[in-house]
Order: sequence, then structure tokens, then C-alpha cells
Amino acid sequence: MLRDWRPHLNRLLLVLAAAGLVGLLLGLVVELLAIALAGILAYSTFQLFRLHQWLQATEREPSNPPEARGLWGDVYDGIYRLQRREREAREHLTSIIDKAQESTAALDMAVLMINRQGELEWWNQAANRLLGLQAADRRRPLTNLLRDPKFLEYYDNGDYSHPLKMPAPVDKSRMLEIGVTWFGEGERLMLVRDITPLHRLETMRRDFVGNVSHELRTPITVIMGYLETLLDNRDTLDSRWIKPVEQMYQQSRRMENIIRDLLTLTQLETKPVSRERTAIDTLPLLSEIRSDAQNLYGEKQHQFHIEGETALLQGNRNELYSALSNLVFNAAKYTPPGGTIILSGKRSDTGYIVEVSDNGPGIESQHIPRLTERFYRVDESRSADTGGTGLGLAIVKHVLARHNANLEIISEPGKGSRFLCHFPTERLVAEVDKSKQPKPARSLR
Ligand code: ADP
Repeated sequence: MLRDWRPHLNRLLLVLAAAGLVGLLLGLVVELLAIALAGILAYSTFQLFRLHQWLQATEREPSNPPEARGLWGDVYDGIYRLQRREREAREHLTSIIDKAQESTAALDMAVLMINRQGELEWWNQAANRLLGLQAADRRRPLTNLLRDPKFLEYYDNGDYSHPLKMPAPVDKSRMLEIGVTWFGEGERLMLVRDITPLHRLETMRRDFVGNVSHELRTPITVIMGYLETLLDNRDTLDSRWIKPVEQMYQQSRRMENIIRDLLTLTQLETKPVSRERTAIDTLPLLSEIRSDAQNLYGEKQHQFHIEGETALLQGNRNELYSALSNLVFNAAKYTPPGGTIILSGKRSDTGYIVEVSDNGPGIESQHIPRLTERFYRVDESRSADTGGTGLGLAIVKHVLARHNANLEIISEPGKGSRFLCHFPTERLVAEVDKSKQPKPARSLR
């Protein structure tokens, strides 16, 4: 920091006073004062010139400031200190950037920075390997470099709450998982992981379950056929064998159901989502499912209601039948005789909701997040009694995901359960046939 300015001013005044005094003695006051001022000006110009020279030299290579006393010495020191501080800050920043670059270069995961114009700003070496990027790609739009339609849809959508899986552009046999995060002002950070080993394991598991279920189907059908024949001819059976044969038949039916559900799940996991979509009228579909539920669980004398407004949903009819029937059959299975089951459809801000609700036993909150896991059952014995496989809600979740929909479960013990399927607006066919407009609520039992 510059010292107090007064000593410098004093020194200046002293020089001028001395010049004035000598001028007085010689009778040349004005001349000597002018000479003194010219000297001061020359000295200042000389120091300014040295400062300029030094600033130019130090820009090429840092060097010590010129020696000077007084005000000019302070100016040199001040500038020198500022320069040093700035240099240190710059070196610190560079070392951080170097470290960040070195560590990201060592990563197996590709890291890409995309600016707000959607152009590639920076990426690490793994991105070259996984995505086939080259140095010349800097400042090119990412969507020109990665042209996979699945990626383009994901990237343009802007909702990055779930990662995307897609084959690597450079080697289709490798599987990548891509995640994107927004940062700064409209910039994006993209992380790409090679998940080939995990994907292979997952495929192996899926194939294994699919193959085992397929292989078990024939033996179980044969066993059930024989058991059925035995039960059809129960009067020829030794009475001690009737109960065991009945139980064997019951359990093999259960096994058949599990195999059927496992095969359905495998199909849902392996079959690509069809681009072909049929328009499905929701309330007539619910009405058909209600009839099937009444056929299966008629002895429980449930009150079935169908409510709300119908809509045309684009999707796969068989899959939607399977998902919604699982919900309705569950309601019928778990709701005690005489209970009420309501199937409804209604438009919402985000699209359309199909709801299946009952006034059955309800579900404790800690189970709700896990209900769609395979083989997860709230109560093992209750589920076994009802012939449940523990796969129904897993099937529902898969089918809904294939229709860009999601499942919401609201339930409280003793107050019944509500299963809501939220379909997005893009699944709705715009025009609904007038003849299928809202029907009044009606009791169908
Ligand atoms: P399950 O074949 O055992 O019914 P699901 O996957 O369909 O298997 O359902 C998982 C569990 O969720 C069931 O075991 C049951 O405990 C519970 N559950 C499902 N629907 C209902 C319902 N409507 N009311 C009460 N509990 C239900």
C-alpha cells in the first residue's frame, strides 16, 4: 500500500523552495523555479518510461521491479505485489484444473460438458473411447454426434430423472448407461458408464427365468392333467387319497400360475415396446375385466361400480388387460365378501387416471414402496390362501412403464386400498367417440 502522501509533497515543496531561494539570491526566481519544475517533470517521465518498460518485460517473463525511492518506489512495489498475488492465484487455479482433468482422464466413466447452445465444450478421454469423439468435435452440437433416436428423444426431452440405457455408438455389442444433469445457466453435464457386464448378467438372469419357466410348463400341465383325471374319478379313489390329491392339484395350479406370470414378466422385459398402438376404450375394458372378476370371485358377492368418463388410450390391449385385471382381481381377492370395488376413469391435468379401489383390509405404509417387487407379499399366509403369486403388481408396473404410465398406491389398514394408473396426455387419442362419453355411475352387482 502507498504510504502517506505528505512526505512526497513536502519533498516537492522543499525542492521548489530551494529553487525559489537560490533564484532570489541570483535574481532569477522564475527561471530557477521553471528549471526545478522541468527537472521534476523529467524525473517523473523517466520513471513512467521505466515502469512502462518493466511492465512490458514482466509480461513476457516475471522480473523484479526497477529500483526507485519515494513515491515511485511505492508504485513499483505495489504493482509488483499485485502481480505476484495474481500469478499465485492463477497457478493455484491451473493446478486445480490440471488435477480435475487428470482425475477425470483416469475415470472409466465418460464425462462431457455441454454448453447452453447444446455444443460439446469439454470431455475426457473415456468419452473418446465410449462415444467415438475426436478433438475436432469441440463446439459441435452433441445431437449431430450422437444420432441414436433413443438418445435424441431422451436428450431433447430434458427430464433426466432416470438414466438411459443404449448400445455404444462405436460398438453395438457394448451397453452404455447415460445420465445428464443440468448445471450453471442451461449447461449440461453428461456421464456415460459402460454397463456391458451388468447388462450381460441381467440378460442371463432374464433368459434363465424365461427358459426355466418355459421348461416347467409342460411337466406341470401333465401333472395337473393326471390329477384332474383322478379327481374327476374320485369315487374310484381310496378315500385316504382324496385330500392329498386335492392339495396336490391346488399346489400345482399355484405353480402353473407362477410359471404363467414369470413368462408374462419375461415377455414384458424382452419384447421391445411396439410402435403400433391400438386405441383402447377404457370403461368398456374395465367392464370386461369386472365380468371376469365376477366369474372368478362371484361367490364373494362384491358390489362392483364402474364410474367416471371413458377415454381412448393408445397402447397394447393385451398388456393393459393383464395389468388392470391384476389390480381388479387383487381387489376381489383381498376384499372380504360383500365389500365394494370401484373401477373408474377420469381425466387429470397430466392425462388420464384409471383407478381401482376397494374397502378391503388395506396395506400398512411400510409395505407400499415394495409392493411392485417380484414375490413381495404383505402377508405370506394370506397371499397363499388366495392363490397369489406375488408377481401381479410387478407385471402392472412393467406394463405401465411400457405405456409411459406409472402406478400410485394409496392405502391405509382398515380403510381399503386405491391403485391409480396415471397415463400421460400423449397416450390419449384426442377424439373420443360421442357414444362412449361419460356414463352415470352404476352398480353392477
Ligand atoms: P399376489 O399375487 O400375492 O396378490 P401382487 O404382486 O399382486 O401379488 O400383490 C402383492 C401384495 O400386495 C399381495 O400379496 C397383497 O398382500 C398386497 N395387495 C395387493 N392388492 C391388494 C389389495 N387390493 N388389498 C390389500 N392388499 C393388496
